[in-house]
Amino acid sequence: MSPLAVLDGCAAELQRDTVPANAAPRPVLRERGQREVFCGLTGIIWLHRKMQDAFFLVVGSRTCAHLLQSAAGVMIFAEPRFATAIMEERDLAGMVDAQDELDRVVTRLLERRPDIKTLFLVGSCPSEVIKLDLAKAAQRLGAQYMPRVRILNYSGSGIETTFTQGEDACLAALVPVMPALPANAPKELLIVGSLPDIVEDQFLRLFAALGIAKVGALPARNARNLPSVGPNTRYLLAQPFLGDTAMALEGRGAQRIEALFPFGVEGTSDWLRAAAREFGIDAAHVEAVIAPGRERARIALSKLRPQLTGKRITFLPDSQLEVPLARFLQDELGMELVEVGTPYLHRAHLARELDRFGANVRISEGQHLERQLDRVRADRPDITVCGLGLANPLEGEGLTTKWAIELVFSPIHGFDQAADLAELFARPLRRRDMLEV
Ligand code: SF4
Repeated sequence: MSPLAVLDGCAAELQRDTVPANAAPRPVLRERGQREVFCGLTGIIWLHRKMQDAFFLVVGSRTCAHLLQSAAGVMIFAEPRFATAIMEERDLAGMVDAQDELDRVVTRLLERRPDIKTLFLVGSCPSEVIKLDLAKAAQRLGAQYMPRVRILNYSGSGIETTFTQGEDACLAALVPVMPALPANAPKELLIVGSLPDIVEDQFLRLFAALGIAKVGALPARNARNLPSVGPNTRYLLAQPFLGDTAMALEGRGAQRIEALFPFGVEGTSDWLRAAAREFGIDAAHVEAVIAPGRERARIALSKLRPQLTGKRITFLPDSQLEVPLARFLQDELGMELVEVGTPYLHRAHLARELDRFGANVRISEGQHLERQLDRVRADRPDITVCGLGLANPLEGEGLTTKWAIELVFSPIHGFDQAADLAELFARPLRRRDMLEV
């Protein structure tokens, strides 16, 4: 299988979301068919940078190893913090006990690398196809190596998933091992979703200035230093693709703070205000704290707005960031949304985002590659946000594209990144205009 998992005729209708009682129903085009997306292993590339004491051991094939190495680059001088235990034909044919082989690989790894404090065993398509039970392996090996190393498992396979689900599965695996927040402890805030350290620090400074005393982040930079969770935890999603993590947190009593996602001036302001409201902070104080950042972002965006206003944009389903980014481009830059496609539409988490969409915006969930490409060809938007594999063919047809995966790898949250986010869409349009001259 190629790293671009192209799956035909997916049978199951994934209904992962619930519609809030007060939400107005919006027509959503549901697509079930051929998909072209990266798999969840991709998440290791940003997660291993974030959790500095963690190691990701993919139990997969040579293809999985190639995906990771080509996406992450090979670090020659540094000790890498991810690797692939490659399953050979005799593993796949059941000629050897894969659990014994895995034990040997993990033992060798942990003997060589005393710096590893959390080890993730990451499942792949091949390990799932032969039904290698990584949960059992994590339990067995975990009992052997605790307290020195915590061993957890999750799936990064490309079967019926898209690449950002790797982060969701990884964070959901961390939730059960988060320490319990005592029932009588004061309310604490938890930011959920991997953010570049520089962006996380900006938000932590803003929450401190607002007066929210205790703020944790999941994932934590040190995976052995997880924040606590309990009924007094109020969490803010920083990423829109964390449905399973949210469910796991709620299973431990945490409550989600409903807000727009922190993209652009409006999204970031709403996210901060919602948290401040939850913690009973005076509205005038909140406005005073966020005003400088809002103003900086507003001025920076005003320089890019003329390049984007009135431009028509289509999102093909890929990163699950599509809905909040589309809202930002429409509301703050005046772009016209033609189609917003997303692999999975979590209606509860995205309700406020969807409310902002104009009546004519076509929303689609899931993927049927051929039909969606036909619509792009008919619509001929000014810019199409799509996966890497689709960009070149569409450019070849004279359409301007933006790689969806770049949006996940770039710092795009918060006031100080709002203009950088807009620039990611303005640049391909400028390049097109220059080529046309
Ligand atoms: S997990 Fe599956 S889709 Fe991803 S690289 Fe491995 S074989 Fe390919």
